[in-house]
Amino acid sequence: MKLTVFAAFLTLCIAAAQTPAQDRADPSSTLIAFANAVATGDFNNVVPFVEGAQTDPRFGYDKDLLAAAGLSTGKWTLEHMKSEVTDQEATLECDLTIDTGTPQPAIHQVVHLHKAGDQWFVEPNPTYSPMAVPANDSSRILSDMAAICRYPTLYVRQTMSRLYVCLYNIRDLGGLVLSAAKGKNGQIPCDSSSWSSFVDSLPNGKVLCHCPLDDNNTEYAFNEELNGKSLADIRDPANTVLLYEGASKKLQYRHLGRAAVVFCDGHAKMVDSKEAPKLNWKLSPHV
Ligand SMILES: [Zn+2]
Repeated sequence: MKLTVFAAFLTLCIAAAQTPAQDRADPSSTLIAFANAVATGDFNNVVPFVEGAQTDPRFGYDKDLLAAAGLSTGKWTLEHMKSEVTDQEATLECDLTIDTGTPQPAIHQVVHLHKAGDQWFVEPNPTYSPMAVPANDSSRILSDMAAICRYPTLYVRQTMSRLYVCLYNIRDLGGLVLSAAKGKNGQIPCDSSSWSSFVDSLPNGKVLCHCPLDDNNTEYAFNEELNGKSLADIRDPANTVLLYEGASKKLQYRHLGRAAVVFCDGHAKMVDSKEAPKLNWKLSPHV
């Protein structure tokens, strides 16, 4: 999945756009309009879809800024929509494709909506946590975006969404390492010296191996303690670092005092300096 370009969009600040009434008349058209609003990268376009969320009046609209960022190339498409609708509530399933110039696999989404007055609203994921993402669940991107809209200021929304994108990027990159290892009888397909070329060999490697707050193109780092190891050597995969944001086993705390880490079971988490000493870098001693 490629959320990095979306993250770049989030640096833009534009004014609120009114949603045409027809877009809100049924859950499917509401969700499609919501995805279009998300694709603009402007949270002021997104918040009208989330009940109780507020636009931020401090920011104005700048079309030139949009064009300069190449926003017209980004497109979020929803396909294979299935819906279960009652009078006031709806559950929609669909496949989300984020088109940023290169073909991307579709990501299955499950989104709940509710009706208030004569409009449908996208329901924020009630379990949204920007600090951790599970290994095998990308189904909540849209409802997490709705949840981010509940944060009170644009600055905080942007901060949270960059953190979220970083976490997704490192998780997806870790997932690619783990699946490559599974295809090689568990042998981890790279080590700290071949890490860069391994990343380059992945279809979206360069995009995924990038934190949205990183201006220097420093990549996420591979845990050198895993050099030459196989998955079977890792006794505590849920606590053993696979990739991390930083270098030389030192985390770089870019996101509200936290750094992204993906573990050998595929889940990713934002770790602060208090949690960092508890991370397991080495394999367990008896191995
Ligand atoms: Zn980051």
